[in-house]
Amino acid sequence: MKFIADTHCHTVASSHAYSTILENVQEAKKKGFKYIAMTDHTGDVPESPKVWYFHNLLVIPKEIDGVGILRGIESNVLGPSGRIDIPEFSKGNELDWVISSIHDVAWTGAHGIDECTNAWINVAKNPVVNVIGHSGLVNFKYNYEEVIPIFRDNNKLVEINASSFNVRRGCYENCKKIAEICKKSNTPVIVNSDSHIACHVGRFDSALSLLKEVNFPENLIINSNLESFENYLRNHTHFFN
Ligand SMILES: [Zn+2]
Ligand SMILES: [Zn+2]
Repeated sequence: MKFIADTHCHTVASSHAYSTILENVQEAKKKGFKYIAMTDHTGDVPESPKVWYFHNLLVIPKEIDGVGILRGIESNVLGPSGRIDIPEFSKGNELDWVISSIHDVAWTGAHGIDECTNAWINVAKNPVVNVIGHSGLVNFKYNYEEVIPIFRDNNKLVEINASSFNVRRGCYENCKKIAEICKKSNTPVIVNSDSHIACHVGRFDSALSLLKEVNFPENLIINSNLESFENYLRNHTHFFN
């Protein structure tokens, strides 16, 4: 399977990542990708860049060396309300790409299955969000059968995160279940590296073996097809505006 985009990449701005935007772009180009998204952490993840960093992403060209650059963010889901910590300015959609993920450092309150289900339903209804980030976490399980069709109906892409199996222990079975329900419910997914160093941009092997295991249909993997991906950008982001 050929991929044309990696939409979850960190840079040195996240402070626990080790490459620059330009290094990530060069790696994407080397791998033949047409798009890459810069999605540094925000808010309560320790030492995340502040609002000026995200505001000034507008200085980054939309394309460098033939690679389209989505100016994005990895926001935190803050608790059962589903509120996310996106900077105020970007509610006007200045950002091209918004991932929302749960990180335990930023979540406050209980995280039983009902709380997590409510949180994700509310995130699904948030029009600024594009991607549901690494949602297979062991300690933040939600009702996949109930919520995944709501992601689909609200044009959210469910992430299959290739870093999860190394850094988020024990989540494989949850991720497999999520993939199975996406397949059954015809919900599009996006495969991402969640790279924290340039050489990991586009490294999707572990996610691909999971998708193979569940015999996941290629036509639902949005970043395996340039036309599908650009249609998504055209219809659900401001990238081409
Ligand atoms: Zn994350
Ligand atoms: Zn990340």
